[in-house]
Amino acid sequence: MRKPVIAGNWKMFKTVGEANSFWEAVSGATVDTEKVEAVICAPYLQLPSLVQSASGSAFHIGAQNMHEEQEGAFTGEISGAMLKDLGVTHVIIGHSERRQYFNETDDSVNAKTKAALEQGLTPIVCVGESLEQREAGDTETIVSNQVAAAFEGLTEEQVEKTIVAYEPIWAIGTGKTATADDANQVCQAIRETLLDLHGEEAANATRILYGGSVKPANIDELLTKEDIDGALVGGASLEAESYLQLVEAA
Ligand code: 13P
Repeated sequence: MRKPVIAGNWKMFKTVGEANSFWEAVSGATVDTEKVEAVICAPYLQLPSLVQSASGSAFHIGAQNMHEEQEGAFTGEISGAMLKDLGVTHVIIGHSERRQYFNETDDSVNAKTKAALEQGLTPIVCVGESLEQREAGDTETIVSNQVAAAFEGLTEEQVEKTIVAYEPIWAIGTGKTATADDANQVCQAIRETLLDLHGEEAANATRILYGGSVKPANIDELLTKEDIDGALVGGASLEAESYLQLVEAA
């Protein structure tokens, strides 16, 4: 049984004060940790106070990016070792916004995924096609190639610990969601890629999330699909009420 994951990605939103208010609003909620892994991926500056507040609670705190080296002369960067030391448990790797605006490549995604796993962090590796690629009928090839590249050289055990997030770029922040069936079809193709490259056990254990305009109104249908194990959520994770509704739906 794969435990569903609901991960909020705050992107570049919220001051420390706003993050603290969000925490006050969610902290009283009862979350069944047997049923759902609830994660909040916040900007770096908000991580220390969130990790401290969330300690011992049902919520995990994640980052949105990291550098693949443990330390070094990389001005402005944050390493996986630093995140681990702080008490962060998850880290988003290769979000399409980072691929698009910050020159992240399949190679850097692979290096960061390995570095995160070596630190004992849970990577949430993002893959997804553009509208142009979808219209050309290339979705499954593009996404499978991204998954193969991100997971290159990982042991079976490392594959099982890694979470994949399928986020079609045209569905991010646009209000356009892939239909649950379309999303499931791509998630199934991702699982088949993992099966081919890393074996049945790893393919069956790896959680695959859908992301792109997920909200309380569409989460239930997405979660009924066999190969969708949860969601990576942008906009709807910024409000405590809608974030909690998503966590409760899982
Ligand atoms: P939205 O939920 O705002 O579409 O964002 C999705 C996303 O990019 C999460 O990583």
